[in-house]
Amino acid sequence: MIEKRQFYINGQWVDPIQPNDFPVIDPSTEETCAVISLGGQADTDAAVAAARAAFPAWSTTPKATRMALLERILEVYISRSDDIGDAISTEMGAPIDFARTNQVNSGRTHIKNFIRAFQDFEFDRMLGAHAPNDRILLEPIGVTGLITPWNWPMNQIALKVIPALATGCTMVLKPSEIAPLSAIVFAEVLHEAGVPAGVFNLVNGDGVGVGTQLSVHPEVDMISFTGSTRAGIAISKAAADSLKRVHLELGGKGANLVFADADEKAVKRGAVHCFQNTGQSCNAPTRMLVQRAIYDQAVEIAADVATNAISVGSAHESGRHMGPVVSAAQFDKVQGLIAKGIEEGARLVAGGLGRPEGFNRGYFVRPTVFADVNNQMTIAREEIFGPVLSIIPFDTEEDAIAIANDTVYGLTNYVQSQDGARANRVARALKSGMVEINGQSRGAGAPFGGVKHSGNGREGGVWGLEDFCEVKSVAGWTAD
Ligand code: NAD
Repeated sequence: MIEKRQFYINGQWVDPIQPNDFPVIDPSTEETCAVISLGGQADTDAAVAAARAAFPAWSTTPKATRMALLERILEVYISRSDDIGDAISTEMGAPIDFARTNQVNSGRTHIKNFIRAFQDFEFDRMLGAHAPNDRILLEPIGVTGLITPWNWPMNQIALKVIPALATGCTMVLKPSEIAPLSAIVFAEVLHEAGVPAGVFNLVNGDGVGVGTQLSVHPEVDMISFTGSTRAGIAISKAAADSLKRVHLELGGKGANLVFADADEKAVKRGAVHCFQNTGQSCNAPTRMLVQRAIYDQAVEIAADVATNAISVGSAHESGRHMGPVVSAAQFDKVQGLIAKGIEEGARLVAGGLGRPEGFNRGYFVRPTVFADVNNQMTIAREEIFGPVLSIIPFDTEEDAIAIANDTVYGLTNYVQSQDGARANRVARALKSGMVEINGQSRGAGAPFGGVKHSGNGREGGVWGLEDFCEVKSVAGWTAD
């Protein structure tokens, strides 16, 4: 049994002030694989005080010093890749090969991309040639509280910790209590890389505890949060009295608009993408909107992917299979929504209720496809966060756009069409922070974030750095 009760505060691993044991459950076995402690107010206060004390020195370090540190973090991160992958696989159920590659690489790629963006990042900027005595200064916001989910643990931690460090902020990270083990390895990486004491602190805890304590804390200047829309709303309310900035990366219900002239791999690509990470991605294309002329064929292809191309297996086994969902609560939620889909009249064409054949333990879910879904059904409206694809027919481009936009969410939408002008036109009309056309993924440093109930932050690249800065406008600047 792994025992990881300590927190990382002011450059050291310290015991919780009041122990409060919490089990980490391996979703492949349903067994406790580790025990952590949930922090309390005194632990949060100690971490925030350390971050506050470290801020004056850290915020004034030269850019070159911070750049050298980021480069060192990247080296150490790479050297600990397998430890990070193993921790992710155990805590949240990503199959070991997927965890060691896709999950670990997401963090590594973000560190690399931030180094690239930081190279050209200007903290002092001209307003413009028309106003030579105006200067725009970007300054670190201060002490930041970083609250992250369990589904892509290193992805989200890197997207917050690295820009906070680069811009001169100090921080308290509260990773998901469901997946805290990889975050602990990440803290070890930062320690080994030489992050000065107090600049980065980690306190484990749950939402009602450390999460809320950070959100209301008068000494925390900003919360950067990734997680559910429910928690994003709670954090915004908790943070309101202290008027701190709140950056939110929340849930999604991505539409994938497949036009009749889509390339022949479009449907398969969309279904595979929906099931990736066992459907536990905020940007998963979970609503597949298919133009009527190719609808029957698309349903057949998607059902075939779920039934024959995706196999299910333990996270501890090597291979390209799909692992379990993260927890008993998530398993129950997904089962409840599959039942709701059946009850509301969607046509089940693959998967369905219960564990896949051969499993009587572990939070394993059958890759599931519903056809003849309409956009008012619960499975089209709620984020399921499991391997469930809903297929909805449409007739015209206008219909497709209207269905896609008829949701509270607005994270990533997808367009499949070989008519470039149409794809561009649809991309403009979709109400979301991101659109991906014909399977093209976003380039290095592209901003990640949503609109409406999907949030308001932009992470990654230059936008991700700017998110951690205050903008000061100075008039009467003497040119140097
Ligand atoms: P969650 O909201 O339950 O938990 C996320 C984090 O917030 C955890 O650390 C949790 O302890 C904390 N938390 C929960 N309630 C809180 C509260 N009231 N105050 C402060 N902190 C609180 O989400 P989850 O189940 O861990 O993650 C899944 C969700 O995350 C999905 O909705 C998914 O779409 C979303 N997500 C969004 C993005 C994005 O970039 N938009 C990326 C990944 C995941």
